[in-house]
Amino acid sequence: MSRSLAGETIGILGLARSGLAAARLALARGAKVYASDAGDSESARAAAEQVRALGGDAQTGGHDLQKLGACTRIVLSPGIPPTAKVLREDAIRGVPVVPEIELAFGQLECPVIGITGTNGKTTVTSLIEHLLQSAGIDAMAGGNIGTALSELALREPQPAWAVAEVSSFQLSGIRAFSPVIGILTNLAPDHLDWYDDVEDYYADKARLFVNAGPESRWILNAEDERARGLIGGAPGTRYYFRVETPPESEDELGGWLSTGVLLVRTEPGVTEAVGAAADLQILGPHNVANALAASIAARLAGATAVQISDALRTFSAPAHRLEPVGEADGVLWINDSKATNIASTRVAIRGMARPTVLLLGGKHKGEPYTELLPDLEGRVKTVIAYGEAAPLIEADLQGKAPVERVDGPFEAVIARARQVAASGDAVLLSPACSSFDMFRNYEERGRRFSELAREGQA
Ligand code: ADP
Repeated sequence: MSRSLAGETIGILGLARSGLAAARLALARGAKVYASDAGDSESARAAAEQVRALGGDAQTGGHDLQKLGACTRIVLSPGIPPTAKVLREDAIRGVPVVPEIELAFGQLECPVIGITGTNGKTTVTSLIEHLLQSAGIDAMAGGNIGTALSELALREPQPAWAVAEVSSFQLSGIRAFSPVIGILTNLAPDHLDWYDDVEDYYADKARLFVNAGPESRWILNAEDERARGLIGGAPGTRYYFRVETPPESEDELGGWLSTGVLLVRTEPGVTEAVGAAADLQILGPHNVANALAASIAARLAGATAVQISDALRTFSAPAHRLEPVGEADGVLWINDSKATNIASTRVAIRGMARPTVLLLGGKHKGEPYTELLPDLEGRVKTVIAYGEAAPLIEADLQGKAPVERVDGPFEAVIARARQVAASGDAVLLSPACSSFDMFRNYEERGRRFSELAREGQA
């Protein structure tokens, strides 16, 4: 039974994958649609064509403010920043602007597991999907990860569970979005290129809890003070995951690591083993935390401890996340292109077992690189600073850690890494910056790194 949107006129900003899915969903539910994209790329034009073919109105290369102003709601694609100029136009003042996940949430008939946090969202989201699917439960991941949530809402029949990765930008605009199970992986400074202040970023993350009710279930990182406190007094049951410390009491629900075994307790008095850390194919203590968070969610959503234990062994790292991409002349090349902030680069360095040549750089996001210093020592033999952020990185680290700057294209960066690395070393691309100075996105950066690394093996 789908919920009708007849009588609504929905504006859609952005005609990439999520915008197109939102337009299709709104049209399928009987709304009128006007979709527009400031860009005029071939893919935006093809999307506009599809919207028109389905009976909607669509435009590329700009927005018709009068049409947007006449809408009952405007749906924002995840790629459009909340600071976009079009959102400040007088003509659309008064029209509610909601993120794509909000439109989709209103049309989903299945329960939603919502995952947010600074790092680990994609890993936890895809791991939960994997754990539930392996247990024969029809779960599907969506949101900031490949498939738009609107695509899940369009699926016939709908999945049994929607596993939604949600960003702070999307949370900032939600009204009714309310996961049955919510996960906050961790909190660290990020996106300081968008937010005036880190507290504003955390405040958006806190909106995960804004529609909490007594039935809500919250999976929280007990060892991250900031993340742990963010929930405040929101209603719902709390489940804490922890890697280094035992539960505070026998009444604490959640998951923890005990002599290498992952334990979960989702009901008072019932503690179950769901696997061994040594059996995980995803590496590093941060991934034990990710596995615990995902296991608690999967257990709450109906998978048994035995099913979780079997499935945990078969999950490998999603691409571009500490992904070994090749070994040549005794040098291991590791692609962690998705590490786009200091906190994620820090966990990557901590996980390195070999002397490491670290490729750091890209488009600066606002955090000081000095924060990496305690982790560089003893692990990183050279930092190669490159891209737009190179002068800042060099200035922050010079005299305190071995750093050299490579100006020039990415190929020159890789060539220099190859010269510096000796047999037994690793070359780690974990750049702590976004990719937009040289690449379209982090995937393209990771692919190029992998290609160049493999060329060296020929
Ligand atoms: P997100 O979707 O939140 O960006 P990902 O799962 O894609 O997170 O992982 C991005 C990077 O963050 C990884 O390459 C890894 O270095 C780091 N990371 C993953 N999980 C964690 C975690 N639990 N804590 C800290 N860093 C993490």
